[in-house]
Amino acid sequence: MRSVTLRKMDALDRFHPWIFSGALKEQSPDIAEGEWVLVRDREGSVLATGFYGTGSIAIKVLAHGEVADIAALVQVRLAGAWQLRQRLGLVGSLETTCYRLVNAEGDGLPGLIIDWYNGTAVIQVHAQGMATLLEPITAALQQLYGEQLRGVYCKSESFGTAGDGYLWGEGSDGWVSENGHRFFVDWQNGQKTGFFLDQRDSRALCGRLAPGQRVLNTFCYSGGFSVYAVAAGAQAVESVDSSARAIAWAETNVATNNPLAVPHRAVCADVFNFFAECETDYNLIVLDPPAFAKTQTARHNAAKAYQRLHQVALPQLAPGGLLLSFSCSQAISPVQFQGAVQAAAIAIGHSLQVLAHLGQPADHPVSIYHPEGSYLKGLLLRAE
Ligand code: SAH
Repeated sequence: MRSVTLRKMDALDRFHPWIFSGALKEQSPDIAEGEWVLVRDREGSVLATGFYGTGSIAIKVLAHGEVADIAALVQVRLAGAWQLRQRLGLVGSLETTCYRLVNAEGDGLPGLIIDWYNGTAVIQVHAQGMATLLEPITAALQQLYGEQLRGVYCKSESFGTAGDGYLWGEGSDGWVSENGHRFFVDWQNGQKTGFFLDQRDSRALCGRLAPGQRVLNTFCYSGGFSVYAVAAGAQAVESVDSSARAIAWAETNVATNNPLAVPHRAVCADVFNFFAECETDYNLIVLDPPAFAKTQTARHNAAKAYQRLHQVALPQLAPGGLLLSFSCSQAISPVQFQGAVQAAAIAIGHSLQVLAHLGQPADHPVSIYHPEGSYLKGLLLRAE
């Protein structure tokens, strides 16, 4: 294996899994994107093993010290991730048959996401180094799930690391359960790996708050929050998304989980346009937009966008109405997010109570050494 030599050790001293290019003193010539390398100090001692990237993050560290068999270590980490989901009651659950099995750095596997959809494992490889390990990863999944595994689907073309398609098997039929609710998940055509698994706990909270209420679910995607609201016996539910495909999935999923025949209206529209023409007031509104800030430099504009969104949404809340509001922008901190909501409340003269701080569920773990892994934040608010 080729090597890089460090000028600065502070990232490794803090056990952070990323080494930035500025910390490198020298490197073997022509190291390729994704190549596994040894990280050495100036005296030549091996400090860590990781894979190389040509961007600002030069090394993603898999382990401190020299790793004799990288594929075997990745398989051990994958088994550890599976055991954690078993400990959380997800593996083998009949109520919830979809969950995140591997959450990248949070499970000691930088650059690797694996989501489980009732028989199909959907893999996203965010870093080239992990793309070299798809075979041992598939073998480990076969070992862990046995006959339950129907397919391993790789969805990585948009990251330029690997292709899209089945690595093994033909996959399951796309139907999964989440807390007893049935959802159709299309991993081939959907966003991310097909479903926003990170909102499971907050969707359950929405269900608890929905009985008897007029609910508006904006940025609804495949109708997650709406399904919980109709199943819990809301008075009426509206779902809004700008993607026609998302709206079609939302309609299917709501119809599948609506034994009380709660009135549901799905609207294909831009949320800002929807609010501009909205005349209803709601007792419960969900705001779950896509990441407004993808980079640190976009942070200021994103904070303004969150403020604008709240300025148009808050006037549609009935007195005493509740708002479930989220930000999945990693670059926006919980304090900055709450600041944007506060700025909106000041601008339109509304008073709000903060009832709860929300975040990603336990199958989206964050390494204490890698706080960047914490991206989802939410607030439960009440209009006074
Ligand atoms: N709450 C959803 C996930 C939301 S993902 C769940 O629980 O599954 C964000 C969604 O916002 C996507 O479906 C995307 O199509 C939609 N979207 C993005 N920009 C939008 C806009 N300006 N108006 C309406 N929908 C938008």
